[in-house]
Parts: sequence; structure tokens; C-alpha cells
Amino acid sequence: RLLHFGSAVVDFIYRIVHLPQPGDDLIASSFLQMPGGGFNMMVAARRSGVKTVFMGRIGDGVAGSLLEKAFEQEKIDCLLPKIRGEDTGVCIVLVTGDGERTFVSHPGAESRLQAADLQAIKTGPNDWFFTSGYTLAYPECGAQQAEFIAGLRPEQTFVFDPTGIVGEIAPPILASVLKRTDWLSCNRDEARTITGLVEPEAMADALLNIHCPRSRGVVIRLGAEGAYLAERNQKLHFAPAFKVATIDTNGAGDCHVGAFIAALMRGETPTFALRYANASAALSTTKHGGATAPTRTEIDLLLTG
Ligand code: ADP
Repeated sequence: RLLHFGSAVVDFIYRIVHLPQPGDDLIASSFLQMPGGGFNMMVAARRSGVKTVFMGRIGDGVAGSLLEKAFEQEKIDCLLPKIRGEDTGVCIVLVTGDGERTFVSHPGAESRLQAADLQAIKTGPNDWFFTSGYTLAYPECGAQQAEFIAGLRPEQTFVFDPTGIVGEIAPPILASVLKRTDWLSCNRDEARTITGLVEPEAMADALLNIHCPRSRGVVIRLGAEGAYLAERNQKLHFAPAFKVATIDTNGAGDCHVGAFIAALMRGETPTFALRYANASAALSTTKHGGATAPTRTEIDLLLTG
């Protein structure tokens, strides 16, 4: 099982011509609501055949109901009961004419997750755990989650994606989480923020040997170029991106990490898992929206075709 205890929110996506000025009253040309945040990663893993479980918190409002339905549809189990009197977090996404995205988030129920909630869930030695930087950056629950991560049993595998918010995680919390990380998956900017370095080789070396000393490997994603994989005592490996008809890269990173985990969990080599994740993430960019991960069959077709 893959257990995710980080963020799962609902995105409210408004298409507008330009960002509003103070006091403006704009009318959006379109509006969409869909689950986002860590949901995208879970969908990618699930569609690649992994039993995926959400052990974060959802709320009892409109956003919570939407998320609950989406979990049911994707056959993702939700372990903890809904928080009463508080809704699931939302993210307002303003997409302007030039395609730029501006976000305003409210964490809601997901920030109410406490270490005791997580510790009360029975887990086994073969369970894999994932979280992203979002919930670690929330003052209400960051330290609680770091405590849970530090207490994972040595044989349990923990995968971490620091996300763009990594600079806002309190340094002691970030350091403690990286220390317990078995697999790190981040993009180039996040790798720079953590290491203060620029060159891929130097960043990979610092991540493996200084920041994540127990990790088995580190993935550094490079958007349309592809991704690097750094494994202990091995030459830095690069896998180019697949050429596809990209229309929306939103959620590509989430899809990449979900597919990477799924391939590792079924025993593939890390280099194959990287290529598999590149294929999954590339296919996800050929559709609009966040949770657009392809199925394992679709990915295998791209890999062998
Ligand atoms: P993030 O969304 O976290 O910044 P990236 O933008 O690096 O992550 O995207 C993650 C992965 O998605 C890349 O490593 C690559 O495999 C794939 N990807 C992203 N953009 C494209 C693209 N335009 N064409 C093909 N693959 C892409």
C-alpha cells in the first residue's frame, strides 16, 4: 500500500483576461472545480495499479464532498473521518490570457492533521509513505507530521516531494524530514533551494550525501527536458522527456512522482521507474487539468511503441 498523508485540496480554476486590480469586479470566461494538490499524485499511483490510501484530513463542506466523490471514483480509500465544522482546503487558481497561473490557497481541514491521528493507524513493514512540502509548511501541523515521519519504522519506505513551497518550511522541520527520506523527488528549483547549488551533479551529490543521508536515490525533474536520477555510488543518470503534444503541464510533477513510486513498488529498477515516470508525466501533459495521469496500459504503450 501507498499511504499519503499530505495535502488534498479542491482547485477552483478561473480563466480571466488579466489579474484584477484592487477593487476590480472581473467576470471569468470559464470556471472549473476539481481535486488537486496531493490528489494528483495519488491518482497517478492508483492508475498505475498501486493500492493507494489517503490518511490526511478532509472537511465536511462542499469541497470535502467533491473530494470524497473523487476518491470513491478513483478507488482511493480515505482512512480518517471527516473533520466536522470545517471544509477541505481550496486553492483559487487564476489563469490569465498568457497562460500564467496565480494561486491563493486556504489549507482548511488538511492542516488539522495531528501526529496522534497518524500514529493511531495500523501500518505494516511493506507500506510506503508519501508526503509533499505543502502540509509541512503549515504552522498548525508541520511539526506534527515531521514527528510522525521521524517515527516511521526503519523498514518502511518514505518518499518526499518538497514542492515549490519548500522555502517556507521551517528549517529544522525540513532537515528532519529530509534525514528520514528514502526517495526524494523534486524539480530543479526545489533542489536549488535546498542545496544552494546550481549544477545537477553538485545538487545531486549534496542531496544524497548531506541532506538525505539514508536515501536510496534522488530524482531531479527538469520539465520538458526530462529528469535526472542520482543513486548512491552510481553515475548521475539522465532520462529525456518523451515528445508528445503537450497542452497543459499542470500536475506533471505530481504525476511523475506517483508513477515513479508505483514502478518502484512493483519491483522495477530505479532507472526503469524514471523512464516510466517520464512517460506517465508526458502523457498527463496532453490533457487539460491536474489529475490527468494515464493508466499503466497507456504508459506501457508509449514505452514500447
Ligand atoms: P514540476 O511540475 O514539479 O515542476 P516538471 O515540470 O519538471 O515538474 O515536470 C515533471 C516531469 O514531467 C518532467 O520530468 C518530464 O518527464 C515531464 N514533462 C513536463 N513537461 C513536459 C513536456 N512539455 N513534454 C513531455 N514531458 C514533460
